[in-house]
Amino acid sequence: MALDAVLIEDGHAKNADHLVDIPDLATFIAANAGEAVSLFNDVDLGALAPQLPKLKTILVDFPSFADGRGFSVARQLRKTHGFTGQIIADGPLIPDQYSMALQCGFDAVRVDGATYARQAESHWFEAMDAFKSAYQRGYTLKNGPATSVFDARHTSVKALASNDPYFGYSAEKAIETALADYDGKLVLASSLGVDSVVLLHMVAQIDKSVPIIFLDTGKHFRETLSYRDMLIDDLGLTDFRNIRPDPKALGDEDPTGMLHAADPDACCNLRKVRPLDGVISGFEARITGRKRYQTPDRHDMPILELGGRQAKVNPLAYWEAKDVTRYMRKHDLPPHPMLALGFLSIGCQPCTTRVSEGEDPRAGRWRNSEKTECGIHYIDGKWVPMESKKTFEVF
Ligand code: SF4
Repeated sequence: MALDAVLIEDGHAKNADHLVDIPDLATFIAANAGEAVSLFNDVDLGALAPQLPKLKTILVDFPSFADGRGFSVARQLRKTHGFTGQIIADGPLIPDQYSMALQCGFDAVRVDGATYARQAESHWFEAMDAFKSAYQRGYTLKNGPATSVFDARHTSVKALASNDPYFGYSAEKAIETALADYDGKLVLASSLGVDSVVLLHMVAQIDKSVPIIFLDTGKHFRETLSYRDMLIDDLGLTDFRNIRPDPKALGDEDPTGMLHAADPDACCNLRKVRPLDGVISGFEARITGRKRYQTPDRHDMPILELGGRQAKVNPLAYWEAKDVTRYMRKHDLPPHPMLALGFLSIGCQPCTTRVSEGEDPRAGRWRNSEKTECGIHYIDGKWVPMESKKTFEVF
């Protein structure tokens, strides 16, 4: 790799050639065109605000690693202006500042060849894990988390008010703590969907023997089952449990295997709700992959959700879709094979279709039907079929 400049993204060193000739703010505004701008760290963001909708990339200048004003620029872009494009810290930062840069809203760091020569890729990669308790992104976006982890680290009152015993924990720390708090009584219920590999990988890094349950309905895509088998092997999961419907009930209630067409609620009840009910009650807490940004109902979801008979541990509560992608890239995790075929939300084969560009990812589930949910809800200590229409997954 040429060492004129290097882009550090997801802990990896990449070619930065596409970042040459990025105009400064005055040039950008004068030209009234382009999708990238380079900002000095004393920039007046008020002047930039009208331009933000057309920008995809913003570089923020760091004249030296000791000058931290660029961090504040990134935070304002994220928090005050809701900028969702790419922000790159541009200058001789050092790996010790990488975690801070991510927390403030930067996506990447561009360093010159001399800086990179002193501290190469492995230093940056390891730096991502150096401050585990602060790994989660530390800024909010429109419709995003109500409280940022960055703010919370400095505001104990907020932490108290959040009513979340795991408030401010990174995803890894939440899992580690839950394992200790619910010793032997913690389970991960995985749908083997498009995001599932993140939690499976994270759990495997901490303890490969954590029980993982998967509802093997008998109606999954072959690709899902192959993906499952590959992940079990690759991640070394030692307690992966395939939960299957009762064979007698299957024979009695769905002898032709076509119940899904006639009565999908009854089919989900037979193949998901009842089998899950049979195993889940043995656990005091379960890990979910739910995230705050996904639905308005979840905007204030805590990382540890108490109440009811089973606690929920939501390690990814503060994550965004971007963070899932980042984690998968960082750890080189394989995507679900159906994703490349246009399936953005993946369930049983008869009830899942491709999603067109611009459609809600869930639109492919039970298409042309009022049904939008598999019916698995935990109420008053029991898994029960849902009655009202919802639009999000349980796991
Ligand atoms: S998703 Fe479809 S096939 Fe799967 S259990 Fe529900 S109705 Fe049956």
